Amino acid sequence: MDLVRDPRELCQLLQLDFDDFRAAHMDLSPEGLAAAQQSFELRVPRSFVGRMRKGDLNDPLLLQVLPQGRELLAQAGFTGDPLDENASHPAPGLIQKYHGRVLVLVSSACAIHCRYCFRRHFPYAEHRQSRDDWQAALQAIAQDPNIGEVIYSGGDPLSASDKQLAWFTEQVSQIPHVHTLRIHTRLPIVIPERIDEQSLAWLRQDRLKVVMVLHSNHAAEIDAEVAAAIGKLRGAGLVLLNQSVLLRGINDKVDSLAELSYALFKQGVMPYYLHLLDKVAGAQHFDVPEAEAIALHNELKGRLPGYLVPKLAREVPGATAKVVLG
Ligand SMILES: *Cc1c(COP(=O)(O)O)cnc(C)c1O
Ligand code: SF4
Repeated sequence: MDLVRDPRELCQLLQLDFDDFRAAHMDLSPEGLAAAQQSFELRVPRSFVGRMRKGDLNDPLLLQVLPQGRELLAQAGFTGDPLDENASHPAPGLIQKYHGRVLVLVSSACAIHCRYCFRRHFPYAEHRQSRDDWQAALQAIAQDPNIGEVIYSGGDPLSASDKQLAWFTEQVSQIPHVHTLRIHTRLPIVIPERIDEQSLAWLRQDRLKVVMVLHSNHAAEIDAEVAAAIGKLRGAGLVLLNQSVLLRGINDKVDSLAELSYALFKQGVMPYYLHLLDKVAGAQHFDVPEAEAIALHNELKGRLPGYLVPKLAREVPGATAKVVLG
């Protein structure tokens, strides 16, 4: 993977002055920035950088990935595990909170580090999968006849190898009560080349219905290469949905959200969820308060056909499903 990891290099590629960026985004000292970088390092694929506008301190793609000193400012209500995920594990690497659906943390790695990520403090090391853990996860799924849908999550599940994914998928498809495989991934958006013959080989399934939920937050993320990757996924018979996170300064305008819905629809992807930010420490500057989010969502409903309006949702620890607002 061809990644940019150095904030100064990223600014250089975009013809931006690093100190201007720090000043524009209320950063702390260079030491503060270094600490933010250390707590969750910069990681962004070059192809994604190529879609950022040069010379723009407020580029919506840039702001999703560049560490900022203010991530270190503590704020009441923002915590390390906002969804209380450390509480619901039927087996290592499995998270089950909702009836009938189980998340498998297929990979702890991500091709990109989104600064607002709700799993930025997740103890992935404790959930690193060995072959035995995979077997334990499969066994737990096989033993619970209520589980009809297996959801690959992470990290980004597509950062695992196709060899692993093909093997695991083959095992899952042999469990009679599982009818649907779902993949939550941002990889086709950030590294569209990831969708190739090897990945399509296991994504094409006869017995399982396959749903892919992409993660794109802004229309500028969807260029010709991404469109081509999505075309291949469509060709493989997948149902394609998208989830976004509502982010201050990135997509918190009705025009921007409407444009994203149309850009997705043009490629055959239906908008599914627009998530309120999970209150994870380090992401407070991306937060859009609930009342404002509901007003924005209402405005969006007045603008788009119903089928292009994503559901505005938030996760509430302990709830039996995501809570839909508005
Ligand atoms: C979001 C989520 C799901 C999927 O929920 P849907 O409403 O079916 O999209 C399943 N399990 C967990 C733990 C989740 O966080
Ligand atoms: S792609 Fe998803 S899991 Fe990975 S860093 Fe971004 S938000 Fe987090």
